[in-house]
Amino acid sequence: MSESYIDPYKYQHSYADELADLVTPIKPTVIYQPHLQVVNHALWEALGLPIQWQDNDTFMQQLFGSESLLTQHSVAQKYGGHQFGHWNPQLGDGRGLLLCEIVDNQGQRQDLHLKGAGPTPYSRHADGRAVLRSTIREYLASEALFHLGIPTSRALCLISSNEPVYREQQEKAAMLIRTAPSHLRFGHFEYFYHDREPGVAADIATPKLQQLMDYTLAYHFPQCVDCQNPHLAMLTQIIADTARLIAHWQVVGFNHGVMNTDNMSIHGITFDYGPYAFFDDFEPHYVCNKSDHQGRYRFSQQPSIGLWNLNALAQAFRPFVTTEDITDALDTFEPILVEHYHHLMLKRFGLTETTDTALAMMTLFMKLLQSPKRDYHISFRQLAGHLDWDSLTLLRNEYVDIGLFDEWLAAFKAEVALQEVDFTTLQSRISLANPHTVLRNHHAQAVIEAAEQGDFSLFHAYLEILKNPFDATTKIDRFAAPPSIGDKGIALSCSS
Ligand code: AMP
Ligand code: MG
Repeated sequence: MSESYIDPYKYQHSYADELADLVTPIKPTVIYQPHLQVVNHALWEALGLPIQWQDNDTFMQQLFGSESLLTQHSVAQKYGGHQFGHWNPQLGDGRGLLLCEIVDNQGQRQDLHLKGAGPTPYSRHADGRAVLRSTIREYLASEALFHLGIPTSRALCLISSNEPVYREQQEKAAMLIRTAPSHLRFGHFEYFYHDREPGVAADIATPKLQQLMDYTLAYHFPQCVDCQNPHLAMLTQIIADTARLIAHWQVVGFNHGVMNTDNMSIHGITFDYGPYAFFDDFEPHYVCNKSDHQGRYRFSQQPSIGLWNLNALAQAFRPFVTTEDITDALDTFEPILVEHYHHLMLKRFGLTETTDTALAMMTLFMKLLQSPKRDYHISFRQLAGHLDWDSLTLLRNEYVDIGLFDEWLAAFKAEVALQEVDFTTLQSRISLANPHTVLRNHHAQAVIEAAEQGDFSLFHAYLEILKNPFDATTKIDRFAAPPSIGDKGIALSCSS
């Protein structure tokens, strides 16, 4: 391993320094027999991290040693959140530490955050650890979404251990370092807005909220600083980014599962992976979270929950923005989401223009996927790989409602003609817009079971595939096949 120069000034801690009143300095708690199990080499390089830290002992020195650059100013962050619609001020990162910030090769500031670092003042009597299962799930999903082009936090490395932890059964603890432009959640702003003396008017900012807003504008929304109302500009940006993110989830069939406001990033990225799932069959009302008895976070409700969460966030902007401006800003959410959704959905059909006829064609196809239910991802991917219309027409044999298929195909053909797309171009666009492989819970489960026995070969094999989702040539068949009936639509609980 060739040594690289270690620049101590690379490891910054603006959050810990500038918002010292909003954090608790704390070091990771040593874990039994830690092992740097998986490294995201591309990300490691993009961050410019020293290559010699990939040595296990050296890395553990960095995490747990007293002279560590990574943890010299590590902190637990305080925040609150609306959980299943109820305000909970007793949150904060109970098991995660913000280690430091690094400016990556693109000039973008990235937090390094250690999940499963041990108890913090916000652990609420829990152990502060993450289990191997959940760190694997976060690693796989964040890489999968990233390579599908969906904004997300990313996994830098996974540390396994022999430390037992107790959930529904005994499991092994693991840790994950993830990166994100920041770990600022909607719940940060909510907490410091609501944490006020009784009787203080709602349109007065607490000093801590003021600090948080100033910091966020300066470090993460510098483009808003010179706007007429910087806070309004920032809120408007968060609304737009969140709308586009959720549109993207709806297009790929991703159900986040726990859209509590403490799991919502101000950067409009997918954040805090829990019992998420890509659905298998097209099920608009799919609920991936077994603990979500009311189906609050079901797939079809993600757009309206996104808006609900933005409303909760917008409360914290009341000291800075008029109610009328807040309302107007929130009103932009739906049109942005719908426009982006239409744009991305039509892309899946190889079309670039959002016309009424194109949307009607899309609606027919979605109806077709439900009569009876069909695998969402495979049905879309089957539109790719054809030499001519005759070949594409043969797909009708796959469908039960042939009449509806023919109706859709006629509408599709007409739209392609109207938008003047030649068949070869259409096909190459379709191949690049419809993944050959998406993350499936039953495969993730198989990967986890092998990893729990110490075998990470399946993890690496699956990860490689998820990193090339549009490539149909390098697939291992077992990962491309749809789930059997018993493996469909697996729901998981929150415990992790
Ligand atoms: P989550 O469901 O992962 O969004 O977590 C909700 C809250 O519970 C956050 O404040 C977490 O930090 C905290 N939390 C979750 N699991 C643990 C754990 N094992 N130990 C301590 N805190 C935890
Ligand atoms: Mg969370």
